[in-house]
Amino acid sequence: MAKADSRERRSHAAALTGTEMGTLPLTPAEQIAEVFDHARDIQRRWEETSFATRRDLMLRFHDLLLEEREAMLDLIQWETAKSRASAFEEVADVAINARFYARTARSALGDRRVPGAVPLLTTATVSYHPKGVIAVISPWNYPLTLTASDALAAIMAGNAIVIKPDSLTPYTALAVKVLLERAGFPRDLFQIVLGAGSTLGNPMIDASDYVMFTGSSATGAAIAERAGRNLIGVSAELGGKNPMIVRADAPIAKTAAGAVKACFSNSGQLCISIERIYVHTDIWDAFVPELVRRVEKLKVRASMDWEADMGPLIGESQFKKVSEHVDEAVSKGARILAGGKPVPEAGPFGFSPTLLTDVTEEMEVFGNETFGPVVSLYRVESDAEAIAAANATPYGLNASVWTSDLREGERVAKQIRSGMVNVNDGYAALWGSIKAPSGGVKQSGLSHRHGIEGIRKYTDIQVTATQRIMPVMAPRFMSEKAWSRLLTGFVRVQRALPGILFGEK
Ligand code: NAD
Repeated sequence: MAKADSRERRSHAAALTGTEMGTLPLTPAEQIAEVFDHARDIQRRWEETSFATRRDLMLRFHDLLLEEREAMLDLIQWETAKSRASAFEEVADVAINARFYARTARSALGDRRVPGAVPLLTTATVSYHPKGVIAVISPWNYPLTLTASDALAAIMAGNAIVIKPDSLTPYTALAVKVLLERAGFPRDLFQIVLGAGSTLGNPMIDASDYVMFTGSSATGAAIAERAGRNLIGVSAELGGKNPMIVRADAPIAKTAAGAVKACFSNSGQLCISIERIYVHTDIWDAFVPELVRRVEKLKVRASMDWEADMGPLIGESQFKKVSEHVDEAVSKGARILAGGKPVPEAGPFGFSPTLLTDVTEEMEVFGNETFGPVVSLYRVESDAEAIAAANATPYGLNASVWTSDLREGERVAKQIRSGMVNVNDGYAALWGSIKAPSGGVKQSGLSHRHGIEGIRKYTDIQVTATQRIMPVMAPRFMSEKAWSRLLTGFVRVQRALPGILFGEK
């Protein structure tokens, strides 16, 4: 007879409808070490597979995900209540990541020859070995993207994954596991543990070889501290208070449309969405009414069709935080230009897309992340003032600059202390540029996802240097002094000759 499962179970309600989706067992903290031991057994075999095998499996996963996209969209919508269009961004993003790392893992991680200490006599080879078992800890706002994309790169690098999705979104993570295993990846190469971060976080960090965390800056700091104790690496994609600069020459309609997407995609529950807009005084009177007009037209609905522009917020605590930010700002003198109130037709957690002005430093919305559909507009006199205001934050995740002069836009962009800056776009231009690394600076993150950086971080670098004919040391017939003179001459010759002869370019 099968042993009864004594684990505590948690029932889970769909954010979209409030109806129960099912109950799932929570992972006891004492079981975490066992889960990682199992992952280690699987990983040892997985790292022996060729890049070609990994690529074929990953492309199969890509195809399955697209075949099952309607079911995945349903699931993401049930769990998060986001609009179908926002859910689709996740499916597209994961497919792009799967394709990119399937095709590029070999070139990013294959052995690489570099010139050695003494040309011709020394050869050096750089190898990238998988770290082992990666702990992935992810938030609820993009449950497919932030569960799968980072894990796919780690898997392509030869690692096994133990993931803890947010307690609000376990089912999307389970669907990823099912699709990976249907694609032919080894069973349990991707394992899921369920429970509170406060109980599972430390045992996971202690048992892992590297931590990939996405979430708030406060949790990121606690995780990095724990990982630091164990001297393991952390990739942390954290919070932001992302600014948009609307220059005096910005095209009004195009910029207003871009701002709507940048601020209200996924109901503003997007780490890279815009929460502050600095508008040049010369176009304030034309731009602001145009933006208000477009925001007031947005349809907020809890529906599974493609018609809603915005879904409700994911749940009560988000709704409370968003309402409190708006109410507090208004009580201290902020003015509502659009929205600012619940949308009960979209369910108990529907909230209207909100534009505020006259926001001042003592208000929460001024400097703290709302992580919802609330945006503050500020009038500025110059690019310099806008840049200074954009930079006056402990965060540095994403930023956006709008202009008719692309060269000037890029000049302004370079002066913003932010890991990501989009010119004439809110976030999609950069996020979709998968070959480029994306990540935050200051309190917005450590390390990067995407690009070569997004896969090499999951590896340990080993260098093998092979010396031919004679070792790099004074030969027996030569004194150390004579050897030092010879070496000095050699170093001088290297300095005098073109660097390209020594692989220095
Ligand atoms: P959060 O930090 O509260 O939770 C994120 C995850 O960490 C959850 O799985 C949670 O269970 C876990 N966790 C909580 N405490 C933990 C602990 N002590 N040890 C280990 N794990 C722990 O974040 P949230 O409020 O759920 O998510 C929203 C935040 O995430 C926002 O700040 C947002 O900007 C940020 N975010 C950043 C990115 C990015 O790529 N930069 C993407 C999405 C969200």
